[in-house]
Formats: sequence, structure tokens, C-alpha cells
Amino acid sequence: MRDGEQTPGVSFHAEEKADIAKALDKLGVDIIEAGFAGASAGDSNAIRTVSRVVQNAAVCSLARCVETDIRAAADALRDAKRQRIHVFIATSPIHRENKLNMTPEQVLEAAARSVRLAAQLCDDVEFSCEDATRTEPAFLFSVLGAAIEAGARTVTLADTVGYAAVNEFGHLVTETLRHVQGIDKAVLSVHCHNDLGLATAASLEGVRRGARQVECVINGMGERAGNAALEEVIMGLRVRGAYYGCDTGIKTERLYKTSRLIAGHAGLDIPPGKAVLGQNAFVHQSGIHQHGMLANSQTYAIMQPADLGVPEHSLILNKLSGRHALRDRAEQLGLELSDSALKAAFDRFKELADRKKDVTDRDIMAILREQQHMTRSSYKLVSFQIFSGNKMTATATVCLEKEGERVTRAAWGSGPVDACYNAVNLITGADCVLESFSLKAVTEGQDALGEVTARVRSGDAVMLGRGVSTDIIEASCYAYVNAVNRLLFSGQ
Ligand code: MN
Repeated sequence: MRDGEQTPGVSFHAEEKADIAKALDKLGVDIIEAGFAGASAGDSNAIRTVSRVVQNAAVCSLARCVETDIRAAADALRDAKRQRIHVFIATSPIHRENKLNMTPEQVLEAAARSVRLAAQLCDDVEFSCEDATRTEPAFLFSVLGAAIEAGARTVTLADTVGYAAVNEFGHLVTETLRHVQGIDKAVLSVHCHNDLGLATAASLEGVRRGARQVECVINGMGERAGNAALEEVIMGLRVRGAYYGCDTGIKTERLYKTSRLIAGHAGLDIPPGKAVLGQNAFVHQSGIHQHGMLANSQTYAIMQPADLGVPEHSLILNKLSGRHALRDRAEQLGLELSDSALKAAFDRFKELADRKKDVTDRDIMAILREQQHMTRSSYKLVSFQIFSGNKMTATATVCLEKEGERVTRAAWGSGPVDACYNAVNLITGADCVLESFSLKAVTEGQDALGEVTARVRSGDAVMLGRGVSTDIIEASCYAYVNAVNRLLFSGQ
């Protein structure tokens, strides 16, 4: 979770982190790295919130080899049933000299001292060598040995910059298990980044060579090109269990909904061709393949959609469906909604069912995602009117309601959406700037819903808003009002 949040443009609220943590816990992960307590009060609070909702997994905070970081981590984790502090330091010459300004002796001493302190505060301590793959092996092994002696129960080789070749990384795992003092008392962990597209491959090779913890992120999210994708590592181990000689406790039938839930909170789309969980992963286009699939689904598919919990795209709800049916569907799609959000989603669903004959799972997912981001006391879109054309200035009149009070303003803009957004700014008085805007059709066909994702900035804060409608201007307004509400009322 901590690495995933470092994906460019992504940040989660404490409530969203709690939501994600609950989903990861149900998925069956062993440890959730919830944040970096020393980084900010916001991060500490998010770790605290996560600590209270996780039932089974250990909750972990990252910490530099700095006393205040380690104490902040222990403090933020106090309410967790199982706690882990993850101490790290960079060991490669380029990091030692340019970032830390420390000699090898100082790095080794800081690692041992920090792990010792963490072990006094927490039973379960992990220690990582950042940029391990560009570190002199002899020095790397002595730092890892010192950390184990100081009380680390898990030690990690981090390929922080995604530099290692697959076999080279595997060799490093073998050498670590062979040369590090006391390694038989610790779990060896791998943490691989995807800069050269090798994160999953290197992680799996690490497991084959004896690593027993893999640090990975669902959907392969993370800094730059991301981390090893959780679903790829898990399914690699599951499908080729005999080859790797191990498996995990992950409930793979929850992978699809966990992936979609997190992508929704992050405002990211999963590329259709993404391994394991991309939309195309189960499409069989060629006739020969289709024939084979009909005879026996094993001919061209090594995973079945049901193994991953991929829902069948059936039409399940119509205008006569009740609120319970919507709640059940939301649960199947991995989204838990509060009663007020469910009520709002149900109203929007009825509205949509009037305009659109067939309401599919994908439509429902879009509506639920829109409501997920709604905040309690907030502006609601009542109506808008637009004058726009290719030879005129676009003008918009927008009416918003907040706590029973309606305000209407008119504004002009470079196009109809811009004019609407300017009118919203006049009403809310918020100093908001649109950072990015994307519009996509949720399903095929002329009556398809348009789903707009708007990323809006106010000062240093950036928020994501979503809106869906069969009318793209209306969807754009919902998305913007949604984001502005979150900026104004979520108190991030
Ligand atoms: Mn990382």
C-alpha cells in the first residue's frame, strides 16, 4: 500500500486506505505496509486508521534509520493486532555517497542500532537494504547479518531501481542465503521494481531460489514504472506451483474485485492487455482458439475467470430492481458502501434505468465508484444549461444546492465543460484548477454511459472526482463538483 501510493498522481485518504486495507486483509495477504509514519502526521493517522480495521494481516510502517521515525512507527501501530516495523537504509555506493553522505561503517552501525531500537518497541522487525542490487555483495551481506543479529526477523533485498537482470537477482538470493550470518533464523524477502519490466520475473526467480516473502502491489502500482504486480506473482505461484515449490494463502477468487476497488480509489485504468487481470486476458478472438475453448477450456486458458473472481457480464438489474439487489451486486463487485452512499447510488441507478434500457455490471460499477467519493455535507448539482457552438463563446448557467440552499451562477469558458467549471468555481468560491480530465464510454452502444474522471488541484491538495451519465456534459459536472467537494470538505 505504501509503495502503491507512490504511483504518480495517486494519493489516498485515510478512509480510502482503510477500505483498501480491509480488502487486502480479506484477500489473505500476510502483511500490509500501510505507510511511512515518520513522513507526516497524515501518514501516521492513516496507519492508525488501518491498524484498527485489519483483522488478520500484520500492519507495518516503514521507517528510516532515524530514532524519531522508528518511534513514530511504533506509536502509529499501537492499535494493530499484529505489528511490524520495517526499517530500511540504502547500502549502494551511489546512495551512500550522494544521498546519505555516510561511510560503509556508518551505514552498518546505523542499521544495527536502528533495528535494535525497533526490536525493543515491536516483536516483528523487517530490515531492508535499499538499492541492494547495486551494492558490493560483501558489504550487503555484512549489513544483513548485522541486522539479523540486532533482531530483524525478515531481511529484504530491494531492487529499488529495477536494475537487476532476472538470473542475476536470483543469484543474489542464492548468495545471500549462502553467506549471510544467521540467515537461517530470518525470512528472506524480495522487493522488485519494474523499470525494465522484470519485477514479477525477478520476484518469482527469488522465490524459486529460496526467498519466502515477496513485496508486491496490486495492479503493479508504485513509483515510476511500479512494483511487482501482486496478481502476477500470486498466479505465477498458483499456476506453476509444482515448479516453484510453494504457494500462498491468497484467496485468488477475490483478486478481480480487489484490483478494481483499488484502481477505482486510485483513479487508474487497468490496461486491457495487463497480465492476469486485464479485460482482454479472457477474450479468445481467433476461430481456432474459440473452437479449442469450446471443446476444453484448458486448451488455451491456464487460468479460469472463476479462479480470479471475474464476473460474467450479465444484465442483472433493471428499473424494477430494489435496493437490496444493488447492495448485493456492490458486495460482489468488491465495494462496501455506507447506507447514505447506497441510498445516493440507488437514486442515481433509478435515474439511469429510466434513461438506459440495459444496466450492466460495468454501469453499476461506475455509479458505485461515483458515490464512493461523495462526502456528506457537500454541494450537489441541481441543474445546468449551456449555450455552445463552433462560432460562439460557450456560456453555462449552473445551479448547486448545499444544505437546502440553492445558488445559481453563470460563466463563460473556452468550451461547455470549461464554462460549467467556471460557474461551479463562482458558486463555491473555491480556488480550484482542473489538472487532468478523462472521458470514457463505460460500455458499447449509443446509450452508453460516459464516465468522467477529473483531477482537481487547490493549492497543494489534489483530488479525484468521478461522474457518470448518458450525457457527457452532465458527467463532467458531476465529476468536477465531486472533486471540489472532496477538496473543500474532506479535511485532508
Ligand atoms: Mn519500493
